[in-house]
Amino acid sequence: MVTKKARTTSRMKHFLHLAFLVLIAAPFTNPQAIVSSTSTQPEPEYRLRFFHTHTNERIDIVYRRGDTYIPEALHRLDYYLRDWRTGEVHHYDPRLFDLLHDLLASVGEPNDEIDVICGYRTPQTNEFLRTRHAHTGVAEHSLHMQAEAIDIRLSDLSTARLRDAALALHRGGVGYYQASNFVHVDVGRVRRW
Ligand SMILES: [Zn+2]
Repeated sequence: MVTKKARTTSRMKHFLHLAFLVLIAAPFTNPQAIVSSTSTQPEPEYRLRFFHTHTNERIDIVYRRGDTYIPEALHRLDYYLRDWRTGEVHHYDPRLFDLLHDLLASVGEPNDEIDVICGYRTPQTNEFLRTRHAHTGVAEHSLHMQAEAIDIRLSDLSTARLRDAALALHRGGVGYYQASNFVHVDVGRVRRW
């Protein structure tokens, strides 16, 4: 025969047991807790620093956060990499910025400033360079005209090593211009010259 008091005590124990389970499980099941723990983890930032050898302009910019390109930053980069002879701006393929970001990481210089020799070229500028400076090896269908190419060097790394690192990425064209001391990279087909 179970007394009323004994039944109450048993229910109480059962309740306490459940309360205990809820308490220890709470941090794992509370959706609020999950949201706040992920939101405090910062998304990786993709940052680039450039010095333009023709305009002497510098830019230091975060152009991507996690998987998201930052439109305002891309606009600023488009303007920064404009055809400096004509002032014309073309929208750059942001995969080129990822390529540069990974290139710096691959040579162990993720925060290095990249010297820019040439960014976007209008067809007129490309033709001008091709006819007046035949020795610089400007291609007729250069990807500079699609804003998918850039000519660069790093001040504290030899151009030959930069070229080798770019080739190792297998992410597009790599041109080596030893006499002018720069490397061309683009996001076109994988090729070299
Ligand atoms: Zn080039």
